[in-house]
Amino acid sequence: GRFLHRAPTARSDRAGPVFTKALAFGDRIALVDQHGCHTYRDLYHRSLRLSLEICRLRGCMDGDLQDERISFLCSNDVSYVVAQWASWVSGGIAVPLFWKHPEPQLEYFIQDSRSSVVLASPEHVPLVGPVAGRLGLPLLSLPPDVYHGAVEEPAAEPEQKHKWRERGAMILYTSGTTGRPRGVLSTHGSLTATVTGLVHAWAWTRDDVILHVLPLHHMHGVVNKLLCPLWVGATCVMLPEFSAQQVWEKFLSSETPRINVFMAVPTIYSKLLDYYDQHFTQPHVQDFVRAVCEEKIRLMVSGSAALPTPLLERWKSATGHMLLERYGMTEVGMALSSPLAGARLPGSVGTPLPGVEVRIVSESPQRDGCPYTVHAQGDTQGTKVTPGLEEKEGELLVRGPSVFREYWDKPEETKTAFTSDGWFRTGDTAVFKDDSYWIRGRTSVDIIKTGGYKVSALEVERQLLAHPSISDVAVIGVPDVTWGQRVTAVVALHAGHSLSHSDLKEWARRFLAPYAVPSGLVLMEEIPRNQMGKINKKDLVRQLYPE
Ligand code: ATP
Ligand code: MG
Repeated sequence: GRFLHRAPTARSDRAGPVFTKALAFGDRIALVDQHGCHTYRDLYHRSLRLSLEICRLRGCMDGDLQDERISFLCSNDVSYVVAQWASWVSGGIAVPLFWKHPEPQLEYFIQDSRSSVVLASPEHVPLVGPVAGRLGLPLLSLPPDVYHGAVEEPAAEPEQKHKWRERGAMILYTSGTTGRPRGVLSTHGSLTATVTGLVHAWAWTRDDVILHVLPLHHMHGVVNKLLCPLWVGATCVMLPEFSAQQVWEKFLSSETPRINVFMAVPTIYSKLLDYYDQHFTQPHVQDFVRAVCEEKIRLMVSGSAALPTPLLERWKSATGHMLLERYGMTEVGMALSSPLAGARLPGSVGTPLPGVEVRIVSESPQRDGCPYTVHAQGDTQGTKVTPGLEEKEGELLVRGPSVFREYWDKPEETKTAFTSDGWFRTGDTAVFKDDSYWIRGRTSVDIIKTGGYKVSALEVERQLLAHPSISDVAVIGVPDVTWGQRVTAVVALHAGHSLSHSDLKEWARRFLAPYAVPSGLVLMEEIPRNQMGKINKKDLVRQLYPE
């Protein structure tokens, strides 16, 4: 056999769910937002107070809501954290909603999760109030002391709930990239597993200061960018929403607390570079930007969608930072990550995070004798790779304590999502080579089967984005009688540029295998992407090629 890197097990925690650690961090600054600075003690006390109110509203005196779902619609500020912690303190399951979602979508989430109460920041009551009314649910507008409450009396050490790990903590809805969003129920244990894995792998400390610019209804924004810093006693600086100008200002400003960690989706890095190109044109300004980023920032992470290599390279030349790419999903938390120290390979998502086991299953196990494990959680010896099985491609499976418990209210879907021996099927195709994992895309939409070849849409997109006229691209498989599917590029161009199909083909032939060169080109003003920068390719195909 062959041994690879160590996959250390996550350090076990003593404290319980994330909010129970807050009192120990006391007067440290947990959060900086549009309302000011909030200490850990503030957050904790305000959460206890709000939890009492939720319980009163539900007519339950002992603070145990018995896993009732609590939907909350909060701005990206302290009210979100207090609502989340209060849901947990009261024994409920948190269902965070997003204020950019339209009414029908909010209604779907509240109804599907069968929430028994809705909380909202006052500014969002007009949006969600009518929905709660229609569903006959009590609506609690968050009181002012959620934002500014001072500590009156010392709170007792939080009671350790028996078996807290197994308890349901949160329902997040998947992004809906391949279908209707599904509610994913995580437990306190599965969330904690992702948090402790990331804290270890990315060396979080209480001195870290992260700039938060993502929506708070997906793993990336909720767990990686919020629960991780709160777990270690670090500081989260939260913007109400992403703004390229404000992010650059925060990176470059010398005010304290000074940002040293940043995480985002590829689209955001792309928007930051657009701003850079427009505003930082002078060489001395560019030198300054790069020097400050190199000196002050220790970690910049990309995830939620594939990071195109041309983008990674532009970011590196602007800031000096080689982005750390990682792979995760709502159902499994974070699974794979490029190394904090050591070589990061462009286009790769590295190796399993602590505690995570992954496996690649060949499409034709009969031919290979058995599905093969490429990489599993090792003991202290390391991880064993079956010899001769490198460079094989197939579905990525994940197992470990960070994996979710169930699709909410969907026992059948939950069952078919797991193999008989407990591996979660991600639906993503991956390949293991060069001691690293590479995501080839979603098996159902990104793996295009054309004339007997399998083409990864992500890899073609990566290439096409290097074209000087192309600003954004989605590669799709269009049904075709002769070829099965045809590789088609849907392209948005930089302002003032033009591109013919024959020019694109001629250019692409230099980099791509003949069968991967797009045989169709569609120009679009803008590629439709959701809040997390994701493209719903099924919708896109349907829109462009209605049956
Ligand atoms: P739905 O399940 O509703 O179709 P979704 O899968 O997009 O939506 P999420 O759970 O938010 O919902 O996203 C997880 C998916 O995002 C993964 O399955 C994978 O396809 C993609 N993804 C995440 N990180 C990366 C990455 N670094 N590279 C490529 N793809 C990634
Ligand atoms: Mg999915």
